Amino acid sequence: MSLDNLRDLYQQVILERYKKPRYKGKTSPIDRYQKGHNPSCGDTIELTLHLEDDPQGGSRIADVKFEGEGCAISMASADLMAEALRGKTTDEALEMVQKFQAMMRGEAEFPTDLRKLNVMQGVAQFPVRIKCANLSWHTLKAALEAAQGEQPEFVSNEAEG
Ligand code: ZN
Repeated sequence: MSLDNLRDLYQQVILERYKKPRYKGKTSPIDRYQKGHNPSCGDTIELTLHLEDDPQGGSRIADVKFEGEGCAISMASADLMAEALRGKTTDEALEMVQKFQAMMRGEAEFPTDLRKLNVMQGVAQFPVRIKCANLSWHTLKAALEAAQGEQPEFVSNEAEG
């Protein structure tokens, strides 16, 4: 597949998810709630998580939904993230945050079962859009690290490199 075709494929997936998101809304119940903002583009996201106790200990993500306003990349990234997170433990989800950020730096790729996330790598050629792709993951990290019942805090990824 030529580079141009690959770029078209990335764009197709991003536009499709942007127009028809599959995970837009709010979870019920809402166990975690986190707002995120990407000032460099104006993207905002509200992420909700429904967590369940994992029989092995810790918590598992039973459901993830998002609402927000922003560019196609930020919204498509949130939708792909929500899909990939379902059923993961919170530890696995935090590892995925690291992996996503490494992928955007060109240092890693997701394995076959999560390969849809690699679509966002196409965005990494455009440095100004990396923050758009990272916003939902950045917000997820804050949501997972916040203690349960803590007042929701508004996170911004402005300080991120
Ligand atoms: Zn954006």
